[in-house]
Amino acid sequence: MRALVKVKPGPGLELQHVPDPRPGEGEVLIRVRATSLCGTDAHIYRWDEWAQHRIHPPRIIGHELCGEVAELGPGVTSVAVGEYVAAESHLTCGICFQCRTGQAHVCKNYRVLGIDLDGSYAEQVVLPERVLWATSRDLPPELACVQEPLGNAVYAALVEDVSGRSVLINGCGPSGLFAAGVARTAGASLIIATDVSSYRLGLAKQMGVDHALDAKTESPGALSAAIRDITQGDGIDAALEMSGHPTALHLAFRSVKNGGRVSLFGIPTGPVSFDLPNEIIFKGIRVYGVTGRRLFDTWYRLAGLFKAGLDIRPVITHQFPMAEFAKGFDLIQSGQCGKVILIP
Ligand code: ZN
Repeated sequence: MRALVKVKPGPGLELQHVPDPRPGEGEVLIRVRATSLCGTDAHIYRWDEWAQHRIHPPRIIGHELCGEVAELGPGVTSVAVGEYVAAESHLTCGICFQCRTGQAHVCKNYRVLGIDLDGSYAEQVVLPERVLWATSRDLPPELACVQEPLGNAVYAALVEDVSGRSVLINGCGPSGLFAAGVARTAGASLIIATDVSSYRLGLAKQMGVDHALDAKTESPGALSAAIRDITQGDGIDAALEMSGHPTALHLAFRSVKNGGRVSLFGIPTGPVSFDLPNEIIFKGIRVYGVTGRRLFDTWYRLAGLFKAGLDIRPVITHQFPMAEFAKGFDLIQSGQCGKVILIP
């Protein structure tokens, strides 16, 4: 089969012919229909410091996918050949404290598809049966393959109820845009989005946000004042920090009302300091670290959100044949895109 391989340490990927993978005990062979680019893959593509420490080539990368079950390994009972599936990319151990107490999303020993084992930038991929997610044929491949990153947004937005509540989303990359759609579908009364890219603020408007504020042209003080005005001086019920930028992090804490909550999903590049008394303690807010997806509660809620009308099509801005992967990574670097899909 053809696959995108990180052949050796260093930037880039190579499209190679590699042996077809074979499913072992409890495993399933998936014929990949669509696979999407993630920020993590861009780190691996560029070969930054994180990737140098985390990835051990040779490795087929990619972890967001959908496809059809092509072959069952011994002992597989829950799926059939031909079934349309997506997959959870975090392979949890099932036996650590976290896994055994309903917190598998922070499993101590989890392995990640496309990082610790060969991934989905390929015509075929082998996965354990237990991470497959049966998907409705109503979702075309370019939407079905992004359920994994969409799950991050579901977790960030709905870690507490947003129905009838005001939501601030800092950062309108794919995760922030997905979060806007999720919050809207879940009944948020008001959604304010901020970003430094006018292109991405345009996508946020397409996702139904009420106010798209430009953090490039407005000072942090002006943004804060605008959010106070829009909320009649009350502040925000739920701030979703999807950018990881220190300025946006402080904006989230400054904008949330006393007794509100902040979901932290964006990853800062280094340590960030806070005025804890004034930004968190005296405000009595709740702060959630959001990583991965609640297993598998997030996936069930996601399926329900699609039934409730969640429409993520504006976020899917580009599709390329797998051989043109470099165009996709260039786009991610430029920021002039939503989600980019590769078709093997
Ligand atoms: Zn575990």
